[in-house]
Amino acid sequence: MAQLSLCWSVVVGLFVWVAPLAAQPTPAPKPPPNVVIIFADDLGYADLGCFGAPKIKTPNLDRMARQGVRFTSFYVAQAVCSASRAALLTGRYSNRVGILSALGPTAKHGLAPHERTIADLLRALGYATGMVGKWHLGHLAEHLPKRHGFDTYYGLPYSNDMWPKHPTAKFPDLPLIDEDKIIAYNPDQTRLTTDYTDRAVKFIARNKDRPFFLYVAHAMPHVPLFVSERFKGKSEQGLYGDVIMEIDWSVGQILEALRKHGLDENTLVIFTSDNGPWLSYGNHAGSAGRLREGKGTAWEGGVRVPFIARWPGRLPAGKTNPEPAMTIDVLPTIAKFTGAKLPGHKLDGKDISPLLLCKEGAKSPHDAYYFYWGRELHAVRSGPWKLYFPHSYRTLAGSTPGQDGRPGPYKTATTDLVLYNLDDDLSETTSVLDRHPEVVRRLQALADGMRADLGDGLRKKK
Ligand code: MG
Repeated sequence: MAQLSLCWSVVVGLFVWVAPLAAQPTPAPKPPPNVVIIFADDLGYADLGCFGAPKIKTPNLDRMARQGVRFTSFYVAQAVCSASRAALLTGRYSNRVGILSALGPTAKHGLAPHERTIADLLRALGYATGMVGKWHLGHLAEHLPKRHGFDTYYGLPYSNDMWPKHPTAKFPDLPLIDEDKIIAYNPDQTRLTTDYTDRAVKFIARNKDRPFFLYVAHAMPHVPLFVSERFKGKSEQGLYGDVIMEIDWSVGQILEALRKHGLDENTLVIFTSDNGPWLSYGNHAGSAGRLREGKGTAWEGGVRVPFIARWPGRLPAGKTNPEPAMTIDVLPTIAKFTGAKLPGHKLDGKDISPLLLCKEGAKSPHDAYYFYWGRELHAVRSGPWKLYFPHSYRTLAGSTPGQDGRPGPYKTATTDLVLYNLDDDLSETTSVLDRHPEVVRRLQALADGMRADLGDGLRKKK
């Protein structure tokens, strides 16, 4: 044993002596990337300059697109606030999470404790995690962002129309929350975008020397619209355009903070929206451009939203990717880029980093995306094909849109089983169901697979 110990000492001593000579200088390991997600509320597909808005100037978002990647077939899981946010933050379809529609002030439920958000995953890696803005995943103490992976939170816990001054409904006072305490009721909404931006910029400054995740969920352009004095009357599209210009300014401030602190090349920034435009509000709603219908429907205008990702030096600049992708893919993709451990439970989203990197020949990793409204499966998309199942939906067709903050009346319409090829018919005007029975069979089979998993209120399956 004594001999063995002596030998070991010699070996160790030799190593200690030799190691410094053999060591080569190695570059300091790159810190894991920061992640910033900026989420607009009810922003339409065609509301940004780089997505074709004719009358709204968005120079910062346009620059972000020039410096990054623009997705033209990016979807939300459901075209309404709470359900959409649940899918973004968990990487799971809203129905799997059990958050449907929009949670009102009297709701008692929220994001369940076992759900794992992007913030949970990144905090486990040592990230600072901060959120400003609209949470809308439950507003009781046990549901707020600090219970779901965020170190800090400031904002409105639900929609900015859920307050006593809303013209069409009476709600209780609207709480403004700082961390997990109510600090005010019915705050001045003209200040919201500025306040959220200031807090976001300060969060970046405070955490510039460590990895961070920042989630900025703007209240705007959800009605009622408010804008600061600085942007009032600045656009060619009335108050709605002014509000989008202020959101664009906010993006510019966040990008400037990253530049100022030397974080550009180590920060993935994503900008997108929770659902399409709330069309019944007329001149206070956005535009889905050539897409059919808007918020609250599974038609393209409801679920397809603008998406821009920027990460200088890592993602290519000035690229447009037409492959379908969805908010459920954001969590697994961030996990891929950061090395975060995925939750143990089932995810619906998949890593789309090859699409963000615009790798040659990269295709969507999904066979299909599924579009529920509430518990009803309304549509499925696979490749260019989108199949709609017979259902009723709200439409403004034949109605007069609202004006200046008051909504117009929706009518109820119904659709039969219809099939569109979105490559040929972006506006979903002409069903080609009869010409492609094999496509219909394939999409029906995919939908049946999802019905067996998540149910379908149209088929009375649970
Ligand atoms: Mg919304």
